[in-house]
Amino acid sequence: MTATKKGKRRKPPLGIVTRPGSSLRNKTGPWGILSPVFDREKCTGCNTCEVICPEGCIRHLEKKQYEADMEFCKGCAVCAEACPADAITMEEKRL
Ligand code: SF4
Ligand code: SF4
Repeated sequence: MTATKKGKRRKPPLGIVTRPGSSLRNKTGPWGILSPVFDREKCTGCNTCEVICPEGCIRHLEKKQYEADMEFCKGCAVCAEACPADAITMEEKRL
């Protein structure tokens, strides 16, 4: 909410994040049409994907095994671009 000159509060424009931590309430998974597929054979376990994902939705399951939480993965491919081992490919989401 932002205050006007008369002191009234009005809603912020759509897309503006006004409170920290609110992304957990916004399930961004349905935004995308692609999802990352992790190749365990190529993965070096560097953890870059987990750190760089803007949604913070990549989980490290066990050695060289990662997965993205599809409730929040928006298919942006940042992880695939950043992976130094070329171990992530983007594929169409299966609905
Ligand atoms: S960025 Fe690539 S190599 Fe590094 S942990 Fe993720 S999938 Fe594995
Ligand atoms: S595609 Fe984007 S949102 Fe999904 S796991 Fe990769 S970096 Fe995160």
